Amino acid sequence: MKTLNIGEMRVDRVVESELPIFEPNFLFPDATSETLDPDRHWLEPNFVDPETGKLIMSFHSYVVRTPHHTILVDTCVGNDKNRPARDFWHQLKNPYLDDLARMGVRAEEVDFVMCTHLHVDHVGWNTRLVDGRWVPTFPNARYVFAREEYAFWEAQRAKDEEVNHGSFDDSVLPVVEHGQAVMVESDHAMEDGIWLSAAPGHTPGNIVINLESGNDSAVMCGDTIHHAAQMAHPEWSSRFCEDPDLSQQTRRALIEQLADTKTHLLAAHFPTPVAGHIVRHENAFRFAAAT
Ligand SMILES: [Zn+2]
Repeated sequence: MKTLNIGEMRVDRVVESELPIFEPNFLFPDATSETLDPDRHWLEPNFVDPETGKLIMSFHSYVVRTPHHTILVDTCVGNDKNRPARDFWHQLKNPYLDDLARMGVRAEEVDFVMCTHLHVDHVGWNTRLVDGRWVPTFPNARYVFAREEYAFWEAQRAKDEEVNHGSFDDSVLPVVEHGQAVMVESDHAMEDGIWLSAAPGHTPGNIVINLESGNDSAVMCGDTIHHAAQMAHPEWSSRFCEDPDLSQQTRRALIEQLADTKTHLLAAHFPTPVAGHIVRHENAFRFAAAT
């Protein structure tokens, strides 16, 4: 993704991985390969791999630099994490921090880390392994978690040994134990032009992050929209949605809100070139990637 300027804010992307990853009907239980056919001409080759038929997804963080702060949004899977049930996420050794530094951001310079929700692929770089212990990767950052989201997973953890592939224990709790977590309401305003809104369904405390500066705006929708195919099928919730019906309602409302506007959509998993706009097409929508 090219740098996106939203008024006085600058948005960049740090990529952990980008690959054809899931069969459509694995990620979206309601999908079949035939239901994708009418949209293949705009989904391929960017969003759907023509060779394997798999959905292409990116795992990345956004780096938002405002006149006041450096903010990291969603922190991928992370290095050295034990994820045996997902071989493509197991024991990664990626140059994520070097890539961030090359962008002009050292770990010490991150002021806020925000997670749209607390799934395994959104919290990983919250921590890193130092001398056998998980410590916050960004020593001077406050980590902003939606109170409702944290409370949900904390309650799950009380019932279950392993939550979100172990990521609650190795990527969320250490941040809380180090006193770097800030729990906020789901409509929290960070600073001028950056605020959260509740987007429940994918997870109970799922949020989207809104940016507005000058005449420009963007919405970081996290996994409220997983893949561009959901423009044609907003009714498809993912198999990872805690409440598929509510997820569908939330997604539809967000798509309607953004359709045919100037607001950029910045999703958590859209592949290169990532940013773009939602446009109405017949009875549904399409995604027009920014060039
Ligand atoms: Zn995700």
